Amino acid sequence: MVFGPGPVEVDIVVVNLRSPREIALMRRAGLVVWGAHQVAREMVRPGVTTGEIDAAVEAFFLRHGAIPLFKGVPGKVPFPAVCCISVNDEVVHGIPGPRPLRPGDIVSIDTGCSLGGWCGDSAVTHPVGEVDSDVQRLLDCTAGVLALAIELMASRNRWSDVASEMAKYVRDHGFSVVENFVGHGIGRNMHEDPQVPNFCTPAFRKNHDFELEPGLVVAVEPMVNMGSKKVRVLADHWTQSTVDGRFSAHFEHTIAITEGGPVVLTSPPSPGERLEPVDSAEST
Ligand code: MG
Ligand code: MG
Repeated sequence: MVFGPGPVEVDIVVVNLRSPREIALMRRAGLVVWGAHQVAREMVRPGVTTGEIDAAVEAFFLRHGAIPLFKGVPGKVPFPAVCCISVNDEVVHGIPGPRPLRPGDIVSIDTGCSLGGWCGDSAVTHPVGEVDSDVQRLLDCTAGVLALAIELMASRNRWSDVASEMAKYVRDHGFSVVENFVGHGIGRNMHEDPQVPNFCTPAFRKNHDFELEPGLVVAVEPMVNMGSKKVRVLADHWTQSTVDGRFSAHFEHTIAITEGGPVVLTSPPSPGERLEPVDSAEST
């Protein structure tokens, strides 16, 4: 889920820095979010409804003793599901339901959970069957700009330097970065300071910038439109859609800066890491 609308006027940016132990606890939550995305990925095919994917992710979180973060998020109406599932021209915050996926669609799945009081948040956009080559380029560009951000976080000192290169990367691919929504700090809560835009303005650099220092944990989540950056909210009060009806993609990871560099907390398990359901862990 995404912070929005974009950067607001604040006097100081307060950033909670996390200890290595706290980051290790956040990794446990991130691993469950990664697992939930594998459940979703395996279901993505023509004919499956977005509601069926959401129900499977909810059951996965329950099996792992994790609390879904999105259900009940306040708005004009509380968000009703554990995933935001946004199809085609829907940018973010789509509500899962009876809509079946069709060949040529793209489906953005965004979900998060808390485990032991620590949060993880991640999003992926999948093609459904064969998609047009320009749609595949949109997916590649959006995944690519997230990978670029993670890489740059190793060498840049301030977020503004990462954000301006992200915006340039997207522009160079002929697409546009959504500016109404931004990433966010994450820790005990899903949405914490700082705000983490995927673009940079002079006002951001002056008033809202933050240092990339060990202990920082942020959810970086570029949203990229094929056409105009403009978005509008639908009548359900949640779904954000492109104004021009062209497709939009969204990728997100929860990322910690450590003494050794950036670490993706919502990445696949490395050797020695395990993700086990709560009940099977108790019965062995
Ligand atoms: Mg998210
Ligand atoms: Mg998020």
